[in-house]
Amino acid sequence: MRNRFRVVVVTGVPGVGKTTVLSFFSKMAEERGMKVLTVNFGDFMVESAVKEGIVKSRDELRKLPLRKQLELQRLAAEKIVERAEEVLDERGVLVVDTHALVKTPAGYWPGLPEHVLRKLRPDAIVVVESEPEIVAERQAKDKGRQRADIGGVEGVRMLMEIARAAAIASAVWYASTVAMIYNKEGDPSQAAIEILKIVEAL
Ligand code: ATP
Ligand code: AMP
Ligand code: MG
Repeated sequence: MRNRFRVVVVTGVPGVGKTTVLSFFSKMAEERGMKVLTVNFGDFMVESAVKEGIVKSRDELRKLPLRKQLELQRLAAEKIVERAEEVLDERGVLVVDTHALVKTPAGYWPGLPEHVLRKLRPDAIVVVESEPEIVAERQAKDKGRQRADIGGVEGVRMLMEIARAAAIASAVWYASTVAMIYNKEGDPSQAAIEILKIVEAL
């Protein structure tokens, strides 16, 4: 049911602040002497897709043909666990920055279906949340990313609702916990501390 190392999968709608919170988390974990490997699932997908010349940026991934996304998803999960096995012993913690649900032109699609979970075997699934209005503002301010397809405040609200359900559905496969964590405007370190508490409780 479990990998040798602990696994925490961090999810949340695009622009909620997962990557920001995890950069605080990694620093804090290091200061506490914890052996943590933090990876971004999308980085692994985008690396393969750029090599193939089918995307230029990460926000194009979710617009690829679905069969292609599935292949990239499978490869990414495999590579992430391979890397973690190389560097983490039984005291180590793998933290994966990813999505429980991806909004694609073909419909809402699970980021953590069974074939991904079979590799990751998460101890915990974290759902990072903020108010939909605030998430939409963060998206608008973040000029380096293209998140217009998420659909503004109402798009975020809908995605947040289904993404919670998707996180719970994914948790069933490998008996993972699910924790909703609030990313407070102006203070992402609070959410990072909440993730630290979860890791310490595993
Ligand atoms: P994606 O899933 O698309 O990668 P994400 O959840 O990783 O999105 P980030 O890139 O971390 O989101 O954050 C989106 C934007 O929101 C960034 O510009 C970031 O600086 C800002 N942000 C994140 N957390 C906070 C916060 N607590 N207060 C204010 N701004 C924040
Ligand atoms: P991110 O930077 O977290 O937004 O990741 C970039 C993109 O990678 C996302 O918008 C998705 O298209 C894709 N992605 C990330 N995690 C997953 C996953 N678990 N399953 C499918 N696609 C994913
Ligand atoms: Mg991110």
